Formats: sequence, structure tokens, C-alpha cells
Amino acid sequence: MPAVSTSSISDSYQRLADRLSRAAERAGRSFRDVEVLAVTKTHPAPVFREVLALGLRQVAESRVQEAEAKRAEVAAFPGAQTLRWHMVGRLQSNKAKKAAALFDCIQSVDSLALAEILHREGERRSQPVSCLIELKVSSEATKSGLAPDALEPFFEKAGRLSFLRIEGLMGLAPLTADPSQSRPYFRQMRKFFDKHRAWFNVPRPILSMGMSGDCEVAVEEGSTMVRIGTALFGARAAA
Ligand SMILES: *Cc1c(COP(=O)(O)O)cnc(C)c1O
Repeated sequence: MPAVSTSSISDSYQRLADRLSRAAERAGRSFRDVEVLAVTKTHPAPVFREVLALGLRQVAESRVQEAEAKRAEVAAFPGAQTLRWHMVGRLQSNKAKKAAALFDCIQSVDSLALAEILHREGERRSQPVSCLIELKVSSEATKSGLAPDALEPFFEKAGRLSFLRIEGLMGLAPLTADPSQSRPYFRQMRKFFDKHRAWFNVPRPILSMGMSGDCEVAVEEGSTMVRIGTALFGARAAA
């Protein structure tokens, strides 16, 4: 695992905040309306101290087991109770129950079957499970997510699951060297986000789009949550 020094995370956050503030301004928005989700996957638990010190409260992991171990360790850090843990990786249905208990928001719901498992687990625990619906806007074969034309029928069923709290949409643009190529994908996501707004049962629905490489474009296109790993913590060791 790469060493991560305290000052470098804080410096990285300042640079990121500057970039995102300017992007928000270009779009007539405010950086205050964009949440930075710290994607801590592969990084050791101590980086959460830095995350907390920076005032960030949204954190994300992509694997159930890794998150379980870290959440237990991080629980002892001052302020840890104020963190909101997001799941951003693909969730297999055999791990869905555990994920429902472990995470505060599951951003990768991409099937009715998964939605139903989470709802039933929420019902059993008498606590609604918060989630985002992952939208597949790119045709890359490897990308998960619901196809845009499957959204309406999905919401008509999943939107009635009373222990599932759908807070918005999540999506990924295809990886490219040129972030401006992400723009049409983000624009499309924004369009579906606006179109299906009535299904999101929170006062401020979440449009989770943009990563280290393309977060400025995402903010210009209306993202309310950028998911940032590399630009905060440096490169991840190969999995
Ligand atoms: C790892 C990951 C990120 C963070 O990517 P960076 O390029 O390191 O910022 C964002 N979203 C998802 C879904 C991820 O799996």
C-alpha cells in the first residue's frame, strides 16, 4: 500500500476544492452544493483521521469485507459517528444483507432483485435502506447499471418498496484521457435525474457523478456528489 502523508492529503484537498469551486462558478453553481465523497478503498484506516480532520463526512468503499474491517477500526476515531458510509462497488446479492447493515447508502443498486433484497432487509431491521440507482449511460460491456429505458419500469416497482429509500442516481462515464469526453454522458445522467426526480424521496436528491479525472466536467453538468479517490489519496496499489 502506498504511504499517504497527512500534509499531502490536506494539500490535495485544497487543490481539489479550488478546481471544483471554479467549475461550479463556470456553471453558475456553488461548490457548497457539491459533496466530496472520499473514496477510501484500498487505503488503510488511518486515512480516515485525515478525512475527518478535513471536515469531510461522506466516505466510500467498494468491497463489503474491506469496509467491514475498516468501519470497525475507524469507529474508535473521534467524530467517526458522523461519517456516512457509501457502497460504490458492484454488490452481489449474497452480500446484500450484510451491505444493508454496514453501509448508510448503497450507490450501486442496479436490479429489481437487489432492490427487493435490500427492502426486505430494511423491513426486518425496521430501518429503511438508503440507496442510489446506478444508471448505465455508457455502452462499455464491463459497466454495470440499469439501462436508461429500464428506469421507468424499475421505479414503478422499486419506488413502492417502503423500506427502500431511493435518494438519487449514480453513474460512471467511460474512462478516457480527455475528461471533456465524459460530458455527454454526464449530461444524459442529469437529464434522467431531472426526469425521474419524483421518485427520489429525500429533500435533496443526489446525482453522484464525476471521479478524480472528470469531476470538474461533472460539476459543470450538475453533479451533486463527486466520488474522489486518487485526487485525494494518490494512486491505489494494483488490486
Ligand atoms: C474507485 C472509484 C471511484 C474513485 O475513483 P478515482 O478515479 O480514484 O477518483 C469513484 N467511483 C467508483 C464507482 C469507484 O469504484
